[in-house]
Amino acid sequence: MEITPPPCLNKPLKFPNKLLMGPGPSNCSPRVLHALSLPILGHMHTETFQIMDEIKEGIKYIFQTKNELTLAISAAGHGGMEAVLCNLVEPGDKVLVAVNGLWGMRAIRMAENYGAVVSQIATSLGNNYSLGQLETAILSEKPDLLFVVQGESSTGVYQPLESLGKICHKYNCLLAVDTVASLGAVPFFMDKWEVDAVYTGSQKVLSAPPGITPISFSKRAQTKIFQRKSRPSVYYFDMNVVGEQWGCVGTVRTYHHTVSSSLLCGLREALAIICEEGIENSMKRHKECTMRLHDGLKRLGLEFFVGDPEARLPTVTSIKIPEGVDWKKITTTAMNTYNLEIGGGLGPTAGLIGRVGIMGYNAQPENIDFLLSVLQKLLKDKCKL
Ligand code: PMP
Repeated sequence: MEITPPPCLNKPLKFPNKLLMGPGPSNCSPRVLHALSLPILGHMHTETFQIMDEIKEGIKYIFQTKNELTLAISAAGHGGMEAVLCNLVEPGDKVLVAVNGLWGMRAIRMAENYGAVVSQIATSLGNNYSLGQLETAILSEKPDLLFVVQGESSTGVYQPLESLGKICHKYNCLLAVDTVASLGAVPFFMDKWEVDAVYTGSQKVLSAPPGITPISFSKRAQTKIFQRKSRPSVYYFDMNVVGEQWGCVGTVRTYHHTVSSSLLCGLREALAIICEEGIENSMKRHKECTMRLHDGLKRLGLEFFVGDPEARLPTVTSIKIPEGVDWKKITTTAMNTYNLEIGGGLGPTAGLIGRVGIMGYNAQPENIDFLLSVLQKLLKDKCKL
């Protein structure tokens, strides 16, 4: 052989156990890790279909929906964004994006890739939109689809959504929502709020592994998908065919791609855990942990990037980097010395903020206290510019 086996693969796979308190992923519970280690199943096995069916029921619960087209796609959160846009956008369609950080910006780029005519509303970083602002933009832009991020993890902003679906439908517009960084920690009612398409992250509040993304489409959205003049341009995300494999569309489960049974098992257990706890309790736990964190941050003299307390996302807290502090040094030292992940800014907030995540399995008072004690030490001595 001209190319020989690389020596780096000749060592055992080993890395420290880290506490992931950045903007995601979060740690998986031992129960989820066990599920991930179960034997591989074939993608057309009876047991696999059973697990998929259980996952569909769990996703309906977390999204609070009865939508038939509810499943999990084999991709990270970005795949959810692609799937929503490539199924709901036909070339020439008008898409309006409410930008309040990086994720809205990414949605614009993707929608353009699918041939949409995209317009955007922008607010100053760290703020959300009032329903009035969104309605005015819908009235002037007359979009076919409005895209909103409920939990903007790049800024730590929470966007309220109640009544937005009704407003969209009054103007014949569909509503798509990114709940990757928010679902399970804040209220979300897909049917009651008339949301047409939603996806969330497996690796945030659900504390499942990344790479498998719950997604759901309303009846209105399904009508759009099934009556398209052109096929969605990405076969991998085409809900007509993905939906068949998941038993959501048609009567026969047809092979579309080899779904990872390991990821299915991980997600299935994570959904079972949140179903056992109940979403109301999960929200309460996140709220209590966030209050504990915020009180602690205030005691350390730190300031929040999001001024309005009502607009602060409980899952991702954004902190203004104090003058004279080297935040990069804080995150590196926290990782190297304490195996603790703390985040920095992202996209438009890079260099401006630090980000702390409280999500799912990690949302426990002892983790908050540990993080605060590490931050206190690092702010005190080492991490000055
Ligand atoms: N949307 C939001 C709000 C996110 O926070 C993230 C991940 N940080 C994504 C989308 C993309 O998810 P992924 O990294 O799993 O592709």
